[in-house]
Amino acid sequence: LYNMVQDLKGNIRVYCRIRPAFRADTKNVIDFIGEDGSLVVLDPSKPNKDGKKLFQFNRIFGPTATQEEVFADTQPLIRSVMDGYNVCIFAYGQTGSGKTHTMCGPSGASRKELGINYLALSDLFDLSNSRKDVIKYELYVQMVEIYNEQVRDLVTGDSANTSKLEIRSCTTENGLSLPDATMHSVKSTTDVLNLMKVGQVNRAVSSTALNHQSSRSHSILTVHIHGKDASGGTIRSCLHLVDLAGSERVDKSEVTGEGLKEAQYINKSLSCLGDVITALSQKNSYIPYRNSKLTLLLQNSLGGNAKTLMFAHVSPEGDSFGETVSTLKFAQRASTV
Ligand code: ADP
Ligand code: MG
Repeated sequence: LYNMVQDLKGNIRVYCRIRPAFRADTKNVIDFIGEDGSLVVLDPSKPNKDGKKLFQFNRIFGPTATQEEVFADTQPLIRSVMDGYNVCIFAYGQTGSGKTHTMCGPSGASRKELGINYLALSDLFDLSNSRKDVIKYELYVQMVEIYNEQVRDLVTGDSANTSKLEIRSCTTENGLSLPDATMHSVKSTTDVLNLMKVGQVNRAVSSTALNHQSSRSHSILTVHIHGKDASGGTIRSCLHLVDLAGSERVDKSEVTGEGLKEAQYINKSLSCLGDVITALSQKNSYIPYRNSKLTLLLQNSLGGNAKTLMFAHVSPEGDSFGETVSTLKFAQRASTV
């Protein structure tokens, strides 16, 4: 049933989330939010109708949307992973626009404020429990980050996180693309919270060791689902929950050396992701997965029967207008609406 509902809407969805404005000293660029997923933004330097730009998404979450509301619209997609579908959820947007808030929740979040990562796993445990007489499920988690096109485990004891992981290009639906990343069995939300804590600490440690900010890497939480029914039938699928590196364009005059290299890697992997999603939404025969580590790693969960959801995050402040428009354009290009 979950799947039928989703099929009606197609396999790629784009949602937009606007975070609350934090500063009053700059104009708010959000002009109109429609129930139908339309969004109008207003250029603060052209406060007339020439400054208006219209975008269309599957859904918009305004600044007052709660974590529960955002999760509720994501839940059917997430649940389809228990029926054997691979699912990918991305958080895209400039640094400070709310990506980590959506995926993890604010730092030091109470249970009520936790984001999709936690709510998804908690819901999968509930579903697993409610189906336990029909199907026995086991859930496993891997957590990695990609920085400068190198993949690192975020849960190993290696605190500097210097060991790099190889991606296995697997075209089979359920092969593991990161066989060497540690795999952790999770049986309860407490297990999940503990792992997330370790992941967050290691992400901070590795960004210090490698001299970058955590917003400069992509972090990927993968949930592997193994299901077995009484007649011996099996289900193998996975859910990727991705907090992408900040999409902001770095001012070329300010950046040299490492910073420039970092910016170029982020730029390249995000534009590869955009190319892959666009190629999929246009149903092209060639999909350029191999052009970045990110798309290669997620290959078996992008395209085919897999379901993809991108959250485009925007900041409402006037001085972010340029980045906001570029995020909305990127997301619009990926969307089929
Ligand atoms: P990003 O991960 O994109 O860099 P964050 O998620 O860290 O951005 O968000 C930046 C700040 O804004 C954080 O303090 C976060 O708690 C806050 N924030 C983001 N989105 C929301 C929201 N929808 N409601 C309330 N606070 C938010
Ligand atoms: Mg973040």
